Amino acid sequence: MIPLDLHCHSTASDGALSPADLVTRVAGRGGRVLALTDHDCTAGLAEARATAATHGIRFINGAEVSVTWRKRTLHIVGLGIDPDCQVLADGLYSIRHGRIDRAREMAADLVRVGIDDAFAGAMRFCSNPEMIGRTHFARYLVESGKAKDTQQVFKRYLVIAHPGRYKIGKRLMLELVEEFKAAGGEGIEVVSGSHSASEIPQFAHLARSQGLLASSGSDFHAPGEGGRDVGYTLPLPAGCVPV
Ligand code: MN
Ligand code: MN
Ligand code: MN
Repeated sequence: MIPLDLHCHSTASDGALSPADLVTRVAGRGGRVLALTDHDCTAGLAEARATAATHGIRFINGAEVSVTWRKRTLHIVGLGIDPDCQVLADGLYSIRHGRIDRAREMAADLVRVGIDDAFAGAMRFCSNPEMIGRTHFARYLVESGKAKDTQQVFKRYLVIAHPGRYKIGKRLMLELVEEFKAAGGEGIEVVSGSHSASEIPQFAHLARSQGLLASSGSDFHAPGEGGRDVGYTLPLPAGCVPV
């Protein structure tokens, strides 16, 4: 494992740890390079950066942005972003407002199956109401017993997050990569907490053959939730060019 993690979440979006607690956890585990990539939001970056500085961790500003491509929601990780950029701030603001509408729709669907209080329940797990999302509903459903478990940078990079999670075939994946590159995208997550052992070489091949840079991130949200802890990732397969 290498002490680098370019994809994780804090309470600024749907993570369970505050930005400072998250970075302190990384420091305690010996992490050296960290990007915080909260969903559609840069609110945690300043606190995380300040904490990282006290631990000598190299910190990279990041965000995981929800985008729509051919009626699918995909996630793009931005690394080395400028949180003071007004165009970015405006874009993220409008995405966040879509989240509240989607959350109300999710809550209405749950009412139809007899779960009446999901919106309020999910909000209890959400420290920033603008960031309400599926993960908060999942935590509420688990806590209330209604579900078993929840399933370098001075340059900037845009990276397709966890490609293994999009249930699209090889051909559509190639079309996605082509359009992504044409739109200025440069990288893809090869090592991800969401990827199985067999998906890592598969996406390493895609990165090499398509000339994409390779990124590594845990996609950590909360201690004990999901497979990977924050701060370390598996090494990239041979031939991959790291972001
Ligand atoms: Mn999330
Ligand atoms: Mn994601
Ligand atoms: Mn994520």
